[in-house]
Amino acid sequence: MKNLRALKEAKPFDPSWPRYSCALINRSCVLPCKMCLNWKNQVDGPGDKFKYFKKYIESLADFVEYPMEINIMGGEPLMEDWIFDLIEVIEESGFTSIISTNAYLIDDKKAKQIMNSSLRVLGISLDSIDSKIHNFYRGKPDVTQHTFEALRLLEKHKLSSRAPVVDILTLFMKKNLDGIIELVKWVDKNKFVSNVAFAALLNSILPSGTENWFNRDEYKDIWPDDAKKVHEVIDEVINMKKNGSHIVNPVSQLEAFKEYYKNPIEFIYSTPYSIRDFVIEMEPTGELYLSGYRLGSINDPETLKEKWHSKEADKIRETVAKYGSESSRSALINFICVFQEAGNSESGCSTTEKDFVDYQSRKGFNCQKQGDYRQAVEHFKKALEKRPDSPDLHIGVAYNSLKLEDYKTATQEYEKAFQLNHKFREEFIYNYNDAVRGLSEMLPDNGKLFRKETGK
Ligand code: SF4
Repeated sequence: MKNLRALKEAKPFDPSWPRYSCALINRSCVLPCKMCLNWKNQVDGPGDKFKYFKKYIESLADFVEYPMEINIMGGEPLMEDWIFDLIEVIEESGFTSIISTNAYLIDDKKAKQIMNSSLRVLGISLDSIDSKIHNFYRGKPDVTQHTFEALRLLEKHKLSSRAPVVDILTLFMKKNLDGIIELVKWVDKNKFVSNVAFAALLNSILPSGTENWFNRDEYKDIWPDDAKKVHEVIDEVINMKKNGSHIVNPVSQLEAFKEYYKNPIEFIYSTPYSIRDFVIEMEPTGELYLSGYRLGSINDPETLKEKWHSKEADKIRETVAKYGSESSRSALINFICVFQEAGNSESGCSTTEKDFVDYQSRKGFNCQKQGDYRQAVEHFKKALEKRPDSPDLHIGVAYNSLKLEDYKTATQEYEKAFQLNHKFREEFIYNYNDAVRGLSEMLPDNGKLFRKETGK
């Protein structure tokens, strides 16, 4: 079990900022699924939820230095009309937006809105391509029909390569095991759907701490009690993954699923708790959670950064590391990035240097667009620390410095960009001349020398 050992030995993450964030924007749902009770909870509490979540994203952007993924979840997140405004806030902050949905509400209008938005990944639940099984688990006779119609409409509105990636989300459960391989083959053949991402079934219908919840009556049609069969199916999924099938999960995670399904409680408690200390969540009420423990509210006077580095947060981390709790620990199995880290894959919860540069330049451009030239310079400079030979980043510093009337920096940065890319001289010559003119007018001779030399 080499991969599981790798996971157990994975180093804890740098605690300077969260690595992953969930925005649980509602608790209501339109489907009465067998493995979840969200649909029974149709009340999300008072307050302007968009306002809370906008503040949450902006507070994260104040201290997170990497292009963190923000997973917009529910309930059913597409029940909220303001979700598209939230996507824009997330993307403008330089983060990556992901929605997980049951697709039941995706009609022509919504499909168009989704495909024209800046969303990066749309994850659609589909437990089986056998409609009887998917409908059974999702609790309505027309769910599969809705899902396939939603996929057709989304494809119809896919107009550019910048449209969101569409993935299928599938849980390993008792009745869908026989159809898992067929589902992967269907994804492989489908030109519109990109990947399938598997997840393990967690306890979400019995109180946290219920002993052997998976053996209880409530789980008799859901929990796959034939561990041998689970192993065989997952082994075949691993083979398909190794042969190029479009499966998101790393092999190490698929291996860990096998351990988990043998005995979830033992798996959860024997695995060091190395990730959810660095996952932050916000509820629709504005309540903030670190590792399942309340960390306050977005409406508190302290900033999120202050909360993240507070004594209270450290206390939570200590508690979780020592004792954990079933509900907070169990989610570990479904964090893909932990397994990518453990397998030393390039992309994991820690991002690469390229991710950092892309993120800082994206933030730089967004600040520039909003007229915040000082912040734009800061972001381009941070990116330049990693990529000093990028002419585009030098242009970013130059242009925003020009706007700030910092002619000296602007002139120097344009010159560096021209040295690195000769074509830029022609493209940016007017801006460069403005910078040189500005600089010369600051000199004691008040620009006479500049005018004499350039004839301007
Ligand atoms: S599993 Fe998802 S779709 Fe089903 S009730 Fe829960 S939140 Fe809704």
